[in-house]
Amino acid sequence: MQGKFASEKNVKFLLYDVFDAQSLCTHDHYSQHTKKMFDMVLAEAMKLAKNLYYPIFEEMDRKPPEYKNGSVLVHPQVRKIMRESGQGGWIGATFPQELGGDQLPWIVAGACSYMFIAANYSASVYPELTRGAANLIASYGSEALKKEYLPPMLAGQFQGTMALTEPEAGSSLADITTTAQPCTEGHYSISGQKVFISGGDHDGVDNVIHLMLARIEGAPLGVKGISLFVVPKLRCDDNENPVPNDVVVSQIYHKMGYRGCPITQLVMGEKGDCRGYLVGEPHKGLFYMFQMMNESRLGVGLGATGIASAAYYAALAYTQTRKQGRKPGQKDPASPMVPIIEHADVKRMLLYQRSVTEGALCLIMQCYAYADMERVSTGPDREKYHLLLELLTPVAKTFPSEYGILSVSQSLQCFGGYGYCEDFPVEQLYRDARIHPIHEGTTAIQGMDILGRKVMMNQGKAYTLFLEEVNKALDQAQTHLDLSPYGTKLAQALGTLDRVTGHLMDLAQQKNTEIFLADAVLYLDLFSLVALSWQWLCQALAAKKALTKNPSQKDRDFYEGKVLCFRYFVSYELPKINALAERLTAEDPISVECPASYFND
Ligand SMILES: Cc1cc2nc3c(=O)[nH]c(=O)nc-3n(C[C@H](O)[C@H](O)[C@H](O)COP(=O)(O)OP(=O)(O)OC[C@H]3O[C@@H](n4cnc5c(N)ncnc54)[C@H](O)[C@@H]3O)c2cc1C
Repeated sequence: MQGKFASEKNVKFLLYDVFDAQSLCTHDHYSQHTKKMFDMVLAEAMKLAKNLYYPIFEEMDRKPPEYKNGSVLVHPQVRKIMRESGQGGWIGATFPQELGGDQLPWIVAGACSYMFIAANYSASVYPELTRGAANLIASYGSEALKKEYLPPMLAGQFQGTMALTEPEAGSSLADITTTAQPCTEGHYSISGQKVFISGGDHDGVDNVIHLMLARIEGAPLGVKGISLFVVPKLRCDDNENPVPNDVVVSQIYHKMGYRGCPITQLVMGEKGDCRGYLVGEPHKGLFYMFQMMNESRLGVGLGATGIASAAYYAALAYTQTRKQGRKPGQKDPASPMVPIIEHADVKRMLLYQRSVTEGALCLIMQCYAYADMERVSTGPDREKYHLLLELLTPVAKTFPSEYGILSVSQSLQCFGGYGYCEDFPVEQLYRDARIHPIHEGTTAIQGMDILGRKVMMNQGKAYTLFLEEVNKALDQAQTHLDLSPYGTKLAQALGTLDRVTGHLMDLAQQKNTEIFLADAVLYLDLFSLVALSWQWLCQALAAKKALTKNPSQKDRDFYEGKVLCFRYFVSYELPKINALAERLTAEDPISVECPASYFND
């Protein structure tokens, strides 16, 4: 029997009621689309998620990729998934039509990705990575690179990767040592090692195209000396025949979760014959790569959300049927046991999961909405949407990743002992979820990004724009009697965020950077709880509007459930910022003062 892993109804509510995605079609860039077409795309995505991704969700975990005789063998369906993702236009969905894409808004493409992810995270990574890599070539590659690589990548024949991490350079990308030596023929000779490269090689495609960071010989130290290269697994010889490009997989890693997709160690140039093709200008590689990283950071947030959603719907179905105990106060042992969803504590756990997953999805869709608006706007508006997207990206990556794990844990808890066993999917989802705070920049890196860079960039303009966006929603909340008390709490929380931000900005002037950034992760947490409450307010406002249109009882439950979830988040989760604020404004930098030697024994 097929379990539910995502809600199309919720996706449509977010798309149309909260974000008014249909209005994008009034802009030239999206004018070939209509709401009806968006609906068809969503229905098709759900069909694919159910029929292609979901049936192999468990099998891909139980039979992970194998490394045999230098080749990486993956589940046979991966080839089909890549081909269908290509032929169905999913990989190139957001690409401009002149490059073979459908020019679909990011928010609609993101909604489709969410369904694939929720059905089977590992399987979804192959096409998603390819889209990101192809997009990087489309943005910064030469015409020759676009011509050679975009068609087979968008068709799902070639896998794309992002190859950044090295054994001695994980979080510290400034320290990568892979080198690129210019050759007279125009290409570069690449040598070095990369580790943990997702989809770094496999037999589900005809070629693998690495978007790889390397240092051109003689380049300055640090991030200013990093360049970006296209490094194919196979390149064409003079007769246009594919030949190996001296990129060898030396091992695949055995992971706790997300087991359906291989992560590989790559060795380049052992035979001195690995060719890389420069993307854009030398030494601007990290700047270019940030496009793919930002896209991937939203993708990671979406990945975490999809996994947590699948766990939530599994818990929901289980708690509706599992009977245990009786309501407090019911003393008659002969009375029937109740489904556990009737217990307040189980409802609390479900509310936690729903508020995390639907809140996180809303925030990510908000980011995609900004990306779409940036694309169709000009002048100051374009800058506004760009800045908001930049500011919220670390939040949209981290909140779903960190809280997603807690949410899956609460799902597992709903199953009692059965959740801990392999009979139900939640055990796998729990393992799958754990990767997200690690890859695409750990939570610590995201914390330093928002506090050390994003909040201050352009003299705090992005941050000010964020406050304005929240205040706009708060103004609307005042017109609803039942929302306004919760709006007041959010307004107070916004004041707390502003007070803490001001304090930290003063600290940045007065103290050294280490003290300023020591608790950046706590700041990101505080910021996230405020941002999520805002997103829940946006949902509550949209639900209130829908409730005025005389919906059916089923729809009424859905919309009223949204309003209740907003109240839940503001009442149960948002108050946690007070403890965070206390710590963030304290004067004793305990972790900085603590010598590493204190941990010796
Ligand atoms: C399943 C999986 C898939 C991956 N896919 C890819 C991929 O496709 N492409 C790719 O290039 N990489 C990939 N990675 C690598 C991933 O991005 C790195 O693991 C990650 O960036 C962290 O690097 P690291 O493992 O070297 O940890 P480290 O950088 O050694 O970090 C260890 C710990 O120290 C903390 N830390 C490190 N530096 C600082 C600092 N300056 N301040 C505060 N704390 C710090 C970190 O937050 C972390 O908690 C993948 C990894 C995994 C596990």
